[in-house]
Amino acid sequence: MLRVCALYPDLMNIYADRGNLLVLERRCAWRGIGFQLTASGLGEPLDGGAHDLFYLGGGQDRDQLLCAEDLVRHKRAGLHAAAERGAIVLGVCGGYQLLGRSYVLDEREIPGAGLVDVRTVRESGPRLIGNVAISVVLAGFENHGGRTHLGAGEEALGRVLRGHGNDGRSGLEGVRRANVIGTYLHGPLLPKNVWLADWLIATALGLDAGALHPLDDALEDAAHAGARRVAGV
Ligand code: GLN
Repeated sequence: MLRVCALYPDLMNIYADRGNLLVLERRCAWRGIGFQLTASGLGEPLDGGAHDLFYLGGGQDRDQLLCAEDLVRHKRAGLHAAAERGAIVLGVCGGYQLLGRSYVLDEREIPGAGLVDVRTVRESGPRLIGNVAISVVLAGFENHGGRTHLGAGEEALGRVLRGHGNDGRSGLEGVRRANVIGTYLHGPLLPKNVWLADWLIATALGLDAGALHPLDDALEDAAHAGARRVAGV
């Protein structure tokens, strides 16, 4: 049974980020793996021990700020406990920014969950928008005003093949610290990159990815190829 907790599913869900949850649910169902989805919204506590995978999608700055305050107050400790015991934590775009130390917006420094040592600054330059592919290989779409900077000891999720990535300059995209993953790739992420969906499912269940029953991924592979094509890779 894969137990998933979606954080702020109503507020942090742009670019169809909820589709990532549908992919996890379907790929478990097709294999006869149980799937339980729980939502944790504003004001609700988070039990870090009750779930195998925590998911945080993208959002507009306004909604993201509401969530940031709530995250620090009600969910930070639970998320840290979950990450320490090896649960998956996946953050996409605004969700990725919230996993970090802070988001600087209009000269205000808004603290995040602090699960990874990244800091995001909303700059006045153009938004970083477009089709994107990174070297692990993940393909998707990005649209963020924030520029994310990795702390010294932090590893990126991948190198940018096409697109902007974390800050439009470093050639780096996302962050990965053990099972905590942050990325700017929307689209949503998992329908176009089902190998990652399977890795998340297997890892959250304590299995080897090769142990999952193979599925017919003809459509999903075509979606991945299409996303790479529009990114120009
Ligand atoms: N509000 C954040 C930014 O613009 C994240 C946007 C998103 O999730 N697409 O940087």
